[in-house]
Amino acid sequence: MLKNLIKGLSNLITPRYCPVCGKKASREDIPLCRACGDVISSLETPANLVLPPLDIIWSCLPYEGAVRECIKGLKYRKDLSLVPMLESVIKKTILKRPLFVEAPCVVVPVPSHFLRRMTRGIDHAELIAGAIARSFGVPLLRRALLKIRATGPQTRLHRRERLDNLRNAFRVSDKTALRGKHILLADDVVTTGATLSACADELIRNGALSVTGITLARSMRV
Ligand SMILES: [Zn+2]
Repeated sequence: MLKNLIKGLSNLITPRYCPVCGKKASREDIPLCRACGDVISSLETPANLVLPPLDIIWSCLPYEGAVRECIKGLKYRKDLSLVPMLESVIKKTILKRPLFVEAPCVVVPVPSHFLRRMTRGIDHAELIAGAIARSFGVPLLRRALLKIRATGPQTRLHRRERLDNLRNAFRVSDKTALRGKHILLADDVVTTGATLSACADELIRNGALSVTGITLARSMRV
């Protein structure tokens, strides 16, 4: 109760604004206005994607409208107030999926090249990976997989070209931490799955037992 009171008072002093539409954020649970929050809460979970060498790719939300704005807000405007909202969405949708694996699990974010991380000032995949790790109660391995080569933008490329663009771009830096583990590979958005596949190839080649992809959103535009 005290926590809610403090939260209510802090909202009065520094009102938050909805990152999607700019109106006052009125919801208690997530930093959005009521209308945008209702839109996100009512979205259907996208279908799973089966894409070897990954066992499966799960996504929480479709990459459209308010969801796209929230992800852009996190990625490009470094709006960290969105993290609790995204975490609650991940918890709500991901924990419904049974994780039938015997091996110990660890969460690994899809890595960005260090220059990209420096210029952006935020590692969105790592924030999402952290939320997944907390939801499942499993360890987060921040730098077990690295992106060792900067790659051009993927958006205008087809799947085959994306795979070529990503060849030899990722490298495992800590084989011991990954050996025999089931990896939950986390990213913000999946489109063709080329990035997740390239990462999963490298993880499995270096002793990971299996890989499940988990993304906040799935884009249907391929
Ligand atoms: Zn709004």
